[in-house]
Amino acid sequence: RAKEVGRNNYQFFLNSMNIRAARRMLMQEELRNAIELSQFVLHYQPTVKLDSQKVVGMEALVRWNHPDRGLVAPDQFIQLAEDSGLIHKLGEWVLRQACLQCVALEKAGFDSYVMSINLSSKQIADPGFVALFNRVVEETGVNVSKLELELPADMLMLDIQAMMDLVQSLKRAGVMISLDDFGTGYCSLGCLSQVPIDSVKIDRMFVKGIPYDQKSGEVTNAVIALAHKLNLNVIAEGVETREQLKFLQDANCEMAQGNLFSHALDEEQLAGYLSNIEQGQNGRFIYGSSPD
Ligand code: C2E
Ligand code: MG
Ligand code: MG
Ligand code: MG
Repeated sequence: RAKEVGRNNYQFFLNSMNIRAARRMLMQEELRNAIELSQFVLHYQPTVKLDSQKVVGMEALVRWNHPDRGLVAPDQFIQLAEDSGLIHKLGEWVLRQACLQCVALEKAGFDSYVMSINLSSKQIADPGFVALFNRVVEETGVNVSKLELELPADMLMLDIQAMMDLVQSLKRAGVMISLDDFGTGYCSLGCLSQVPIDSVKIDRMFVKGIPYDQKSGEVTNAVIALAHKLNLNVIAEGVETREQLKFLQDANCEMAQGNLFSHALDEEQLAGYLSNIEQGQNGRFIYGSSPD
């Protein structure tokens, strides 16, 4: 009897494994074609400077416009793209698209914004990455000093020397570098002090708890103090409330992103948003002004 139950469970496990594996394979196949079919889009989330309250830039965030499933969030396919090696093609597409958008904004008169681009650890572990970056910059004609690359928190693929070399080459190319999701990954204090990055982004996980959860508050304060000792700027992710904003301002955090200011906007919404704040607000953000 016990044996039978065990076997049934095992059978059930196998079946659900098969379903999952089959779904993954189907998705991988669809993902493979998605670039050719132009199914990816970038949305852009504004970054706000906390002392001047001005929008200073935006982060490009990829979405998959799936014909049946609608807009699919990156958490649902980036890992798969990494596992299957498609991340290189996807990453290149994101890079080029974000550069083109930056050029287009400049042409439209929105010429003072920084464009941040997320990188995955597989992408930067590719020894050809710097050359690829330089090529895309040249081909798109983007002003490289307007770009910021966000290094992922999980850089297990690179040792500290490799990371230093990479960041130094990228800095020589003229781009700014930030460390994403700081506090969640493997970048040690040693790495933070040795690698010449410009800023750290405090992960949403910590911001979420402030100001009421004492531990989150203490960690956030400690990260900001440490970053400032190392001459790094701090960007807080996922700011949703005025209380969180107040806490971060009191802690001298330089910049923030989050739904309090604006969620990620599509291309059209972004242009509308920027012209609104430039005309009405001298470039300052307006609470609740982002489109739904
Ligand atoms: P991330 O780089 O840390 O991006 C911040 C995520 O937090 C975004 O989710 C953003 O929409 C979300 N967010 C921003 N403000 C708030 C807020 O106030 N509340 C809440 N609850 N969420 C907020 P998204 O767009 O789903 O992206 C998730 C992750 O996927 C990103 O985290 C990044 O690691 C990855 N990703 C996105 N685009 C790309 C890309 O082009 N390439 C690579 N390699 N990874 C990407
Ligand atoms: Mg990011
Ligand atoms: Mg982040
Ligand atoms: Mg994060």
